[in-house]
Amino acid sequence: LVVLENVNKHFGDLHVLRDINITVDRGEVVVVIGPSGSGKSTLCRTINRLETIDSGLITIDGVPLPEEGRGLARLRSDVGMVFQSFNLFAHKTVLQNVTLGPVKVRRQNRAEAEKRAWELLDRVGIADQAGKYPAQLSGGQQQRVAIARALAMDPKVLMFDEPTSALDPEMVQEVLDVMTALAKEGMTMVVVTHEMGFARRAANRVVFMADGQIVEENTPDEFFTAPRTERAQDFLSKIL
Ligand code: ATP
Ligand code: MG
Repeated sequence: LVVLENVNKHFGDLHVLRDINITVDRGEVVVVIGPSGSGKSTLCRTINRLETIDSGLITIDGVPLPEEGRGLARLRSDVGMVFQSFNLFAHKTVLQNVTLGPVKVRRQNRAEAEKRAWELLDRVGIADQAGKYPAQLSGGQQQRVAIARALAMDPKVLMFDEPTSALDPEMVQEVLDVMTALAKEGMTMVVVTHEMGFARRAANRVVFMADGQIVEENTPDEFFTAPRTERAQDFLSKIL
């Protein structure tokens, strides 16, 4: 579904992505882990073209990422993004946050978009908060709104960049539970996270990055019990 071939990216002199090759199949959950600054966020951002790449090829369903214009808006709705910082629209209600994209970008009529939004809010367990503004919600609730908003666009793939890192510890699990349920339902997901429990339970594959490179790609079982590379062993010894 999502294929990256020999992708390279620089920020000035810094070579942040080095010959990245990844294939994410439909229904797969790929967890990306690695030390700070290894390029995980940049990698996520290239996939919906929030960052351009210097060389290589990224395709979705075999189609190279569009450069600009209408194709780009379409791409952004095909590749959903959930960020660490929620990025909800502060002056819109929960319900409006979820319906805005479908109405503006997908050209759904409002009634249809609202019906779907209620379903999605129910699915992430916050239908009772639909009339509130983001600031009136807990971090965990805001992040679940962000997930509902991404789902409302019917994305082909959902990218999560450290979705629980900004949350108070007691709210982490409610977000991970929603993500685990999505994974079980067959959603294609790329998840950057330090939540190793989630990686073990939900991932089909773990991609370990360091210094802009994919150092190891493995099943979660093998990665956590018998990592092949010294870099990964070293990383795991520090975080587990
Ligand atoms: P973290 O775990 O801290 O989130 P990361 O693996 O997500 O780290 P990136 O955010 O992708 O890492 O950053 C990779 C490198 O690129 C870092 O050295 C960072 O400082 C640098 N970088 C990221 N964005 C930019 C930018 N817009 N301009 C210049 N350098 C950048
Ligand atoms: Mg990051």
